[in-house]
Amino acid sequence: MTEFSLDLNEDQLTLGKWVHDFAANVLRPQAAEWDEREEFPYPVVEEAASIGLYGWEFMAEIMRNDPTGLSTPVALEELFWGDAGLGMAIMGTGLAVAGIAASGSQAQVIEWVPQCYGSPGAVALGAFCASGPDAGSDVNAYRTRARYDEATDEWVLNGTKAWITNGGLAAVHVVVAVVDPGLGSKGHASFVVPPGTKGLSMGQKYAKHGIRASHTAEVVLDDCRVPGRCLLGGKEKLDERLARVREGKPGNAQAAMQTFEATRPSMAAQALGIARAAYEYSLEYAKERHAFGRPIIHNQSIAFMFADIATELEATRMLVWRAAWLGKQKRIHNAEGSMAKLKAGRLAVHSTERAMQILGGYGYTREYPVERWHRDAKIYDIFEGTEQIQQLVISRAISGLRIE
Ligand SMILES: Cc1cc2nc3c(=O)[nH]c(=O)nc-3n(C[C@H](O)[C@H](O)[C@H](O)COP(=O)(O)OP(=O)(O)OC[C@H]3O[C@@H](n4cnc5c(N)ncnc54)[C@H](O)[C@@H]3O)c2cc1C
Repeated sequence: MTEFSLDLNEDQLTLGKWVHDFAANVLRPQAAEWDEREEFPYPVVEEAASIGLYGWEFMAEIMRNDPTGLSTPVALEELFWGDAGLGMAIMGTGLAVAGIAASGSQAQVIEWVPQCYGSPGAVALGAFCASGPDAGSDVNAYRTRARYDEATDEWVLNGTKAWITNGGLAAVHVVVAVVDPGLGSKGHASFVVPPGTKGLSMGQKYAKHGIRASHTAEVVLDDCRVPGRCLLGGKEKLDERLARVREGKPGNAQAAMQTFEATRPSMAAQALGIARAAYEYSLEYAKERHAFGRPIIHNQSIAFMFADIATELEATRMLVWRAAWLGKQKRIHNAEGSMAKLKAGRLAVHSTERAMQILGGYGYTREYPVERWHRDAKIYDIFEGTEQIQQLVISRAISGLRIE
């Protein structure tokens, strides 16, 4: 087991600086434009790929060569400090990769993960499709069905997925579908839908409040046939698992939950990046802006806002790093990831809202970035488990009871 330490190693310090420079020099200058355009920013993702910041090798490097688990949150905090919409355009594929890693065999990881990213000059995207139009938090209510066609050794997928990051644009879609509706969420399995598969199409594209450079759309599956080898984990394992569940024996966590458990500290690190961006920006502003003959920060009521947010930022980073470290040691007990995400989402909303307050009228305009950061921040209370779902996970973990 690797000791928990707050001292980042040389590699992590270098990584943090490298990502920060990209965020400051590439993301920040373009962020407002892509927010207005509300289109997927392929040139920005290509630029990230050209320096090695978008690609499976980068993900493998920061995950494999890091026994502490801290490299990922360090990189994500810096990237999302730059901009969350562009950050999500670069990192959204990671959710599909986490879905493949959570349920797939090593051979499936090797086959599909590189295809999620493509290569510099021809980047590809991945999408993780769990939520449906009438089922986000309530994973028992997913409706997309997967039926096995024994004659052709294919799985046939039918249904609509909602709110999917990179949905319909992606080369590789990872779809969570119901195999046995009688088993609730324990009857789910995850499937890779390979590039160019017939029967998968993009439904409506959502016009969003924030992270507008990130693409979010419905994914429609209409008799979408995928080869048997696209079932993540394989049929033998699935049959064994379903048999155990039918006999009332404890099974593994279901497919979507396994993915979210792995990604919550990362989502929290992204929110932390937004919170820190707003804090730093408004702190500088408060030192410059004069009212009643002195910089506004000389008012205790303003300075104390910064004192509180600085303290919250440090506390949140500790939660995020602890969850990431525990995750790496495979010692996460569920609630640590949820605590980190709950806290970081709320802080991002609070810090960006306070930043708008500090900037006064300017803060409310699109001339300054804080209103965009505030719009971006809110998603962290909603996706990958809403505020209330994190509270549910935490309250169950601390009480040992089935809180409803
Ligand atoms: C921009 C964006 C990107 C997304 N990307 C993806 C993606 O890539 N893949 C994917 O699969 N999904 C994605 N989602 C979906 C997202 O994860 C869901 O929106 C989220 O899980 C909430 O589900 P819902 O929208 O159905 O809300 P609901 O589940 O209907 O919840 C509505 C409200 O009720 C509350 N609530 C629900 N149940 C309970 C309960 N038991 N106790 C207390 N309160 C409760 C919720 O907290 C929320 O406040 C994305 C969503 C957005 C907006």
